[in-house]
Amino acid sequence: MRAIEVASHGGPDVLIATDVPPPVPGPTDLLVDVECAGVNFIDTYFRTGAYPQEVPYIPGSEGTGIVREVGGDVDGFAPGDRVAWASAPGSYAEQVCVPAAVAVAVPAGVSPAQAASALLQGMTAHYLVHSTYPVQSGDTVLVHAGAGGVGLLLTQMAANLGASVLTTVSTDEKEALSRAAGAVEVYRYDDDVADRARAFTGGDGVAAVYDGVGAATFDTSVAAVRTRGTVVLFGAASGPVPPVDPQRLNAAGSIYLTRPSLGAYIRDRQELVWRAGDVFTALADGSLNLRVGAEYPLEEAAQAHRDLEGRRTTGSIVLRVQ
Ligand code: NDP
Repeated sequence: MRAIEVASHGGPDVLIATDVPPPVPGPTDLLVDVECAGVNFIDTYFRTGAYPQEVPYIPGSEGTGIVREVGGDVDGFAPGDRVAWASAPGSYAEQVCVPAAVAVAVPAGVSPAQAASALLQGMTAHYLVHSTYPVQSGDTVLVHAGAGGVGLLLTQMAANLGASVLTTVSTDEKEALSRAAGAVEVYRYDDDVADRARAFTGGDGVAAVYDGVGAATFDTSVAAVRTRGTVVLFGAASGPVPPVDPQRLNAAGSIYLTRPSLGAYIRDRQELVWRAGDVFTALADGSLNLRVGAEYPLEEAAQAHRDLEGRRTTGSIVLRVQ
């Protein structure tokens, strides 16, 4: 089968299309013909070696496709089902083994490209606004990278919960997308973001900052949050944040700092089904809009990574496999 393989860590050019043997499913797996694979920022951390990853490997953890074979111990799935997943390693490929425990049926009305990019970013936005800092109606929150894959979903979910959402973006096109998602104020990173967020809240500061940008925005996030507010550092698109002296949290007003990850918020099948179900239901009934900003053929995975890291993408992006 065709797949993208990484033989050594490095820049986007290490994503090479090649022929590899198809995977062999175990008794608790589904063997799936991949239609589309989701491309996520975390894929770049594994590619560079910023996150530990043995080589060679097939990147990607997210996608959608049609079940070809069902492991002997699996209940509830059958060949021909369309499924999606957020945590099946090796998803940049024509076939992948998806543990049945992490597979979710795709409802009618959700396209393959949307389904392929809904779960990782959608469940992340879901746990951030429902569980990490649960948004309250009337809150003001700040979301960095407001026109990104997570950013657009997070903005809509927070606004639907009754929050006033402030965002940062880098371009006018991204500003328009962020406003359409529900942002009431949209800043550039070199604006006085913390001062303007404080001014918007009558001097108090925001209830929470959702910061997936990291190094470039962390100081702004700490400066923008209200007394006893929460800084949610959930990514490092601009690079990792250097070590933090806990005394800074005191000086900033007894604030909370957390560094969450999706795995800790889908700890069992029940929690996964809850979050995935909420995301798919909202997509199917139109209350949540998922923008697939670009589709690339599988063979062009390197270009997808270049565009993602070069800040040229909006919303989610996917690899079209078949
Ligand atoms: P995005 O689509 O948001 O792409 C990243 C965006 O970050 C860019 O489009 C860009 O938007 C912004 N950005 C700011 N500074 C930089 C920089 N120096 N280099 C590149 N981009 C920059 O990606 P995702 O939605 O996939 O992920 C967003 C963040 O969320 C990532 O940090 C990712 O690791 C994290 N994440 C964390 C999860 C968790 O559970 N902890 C799960 C999923 C994602 P702009 O041009 O507007 O600045």
